[in-house]
Amino acid sequence: MTEKTPKLAGVVGWPVGQSLSPLIHTIWASRAGIDGYYIPLAVPPAYDEFARVMTALQTIGFSGVNVTIPHKEHALRYADAASEIAQKIGAANMLTFGKKGVYADNSDAAGFEKSLRDRLGASSERKSAFILGAGGAARAVAVAIRNCGFADIVVANRTRDKAETIAADFAMEVADWEERNERLSAASFVVNTTSLGMSGQPPLELDSKKLRPGAIVADIVYSPPETPFLKAAQVRGHPVINGLDMLMHQAAPGFRQWFGGAAVVDEALRAALVTALKRRGSA
Ligand code: NAP
Repeated sequence: MTEKTPKLAGVVGWPVGQSLSPLIHTIWASRAGIDGYYIPLAVPPAYDEFARVMTALQTIGFSGVNVTIPHKEHALRYADAASEIAQKIGAANMLTFGKKGVYADNSDAAGFEKSLRDRLGASSERKSAFILGAGGAARAVAVAIRNCGFADIVVANRTRDKAETIAADFAMEVADWEERNERLSAASFVVNTTSLGMSGQPPLELDSKKLRPGAIVADIVYSPPETPFLKAAQVRGHPVINGLDMLMHQAAPGFRQWFGGAAVVDEALRAALVTALKRRGSA
């Protein structure tokens, strides 16, 4: 009789204890009856530490890992090959360990694109979008917004240099951070990609009265799912997209790749994540 070994995958970050990815993958594995483990792995910030752990994970039979802050650029550097989208974004949130080498990919852009497409109607205006923030996640969001057909994209960031870099990479216009309220009225889609509004962080200061009527408003912060920024927009009747949508959709490609089962994003999954956040006092 041969012993069947469970499938192994995980998420690598520093810190990583707050990650909801183990819960998402465990729910999908249980639904599909898959024998597998998805393990949170705290790996210190230096590239050498990251590389050492990636090599060890392959030795013990991991199929792949998700990668989060601060290792997304490290993942791209470590891989033998990378998808076009990961190269364009300059970071990877997925590493797949294969016989031919390590392959880096980025599912953040597709994850955000799916959540935005789910909310855009056939008649939704797709002219102008406004991105707040210019960190790693903003690059994935910029790709997704462009793919959804928005022609004019404006970006504002506290540190203007970073806004200029991302604007040059993705053909966007830069606005001053102090100018953000004045820019709101022109945008039919507004998204917060800063960490403002996250548990333990100050809220994003934005005057929701200046939002264009009917504008869709998104926040990629998911802890809490209802940030003060989103709540203010919702109260004024704007359609909103919270960070759990992107989180669930970005997880799906990794699950399919490493565990080989269906990764369905539905209300039951969302409810489980909200319950977990409530237990932590973050929802
Ligand atoms: P990052 O690279 O560290 O970027 C952080 C961004 O927040 C930068 O634009 C930074 O501006 C801005 N920021 C931080 N503190 C600020 C303050 N006090 N005032 C104004 N701006 C401030 O982080 P990231 O990877 O892009 O992630 C950003 C957020 O997105 C996090 O909350 C993360 O959890 C969330 N996220 C969610 C998903 C999802 O699946 N829903 C996926 C990825 C990330 P400066 O450049 O001026 O510092």
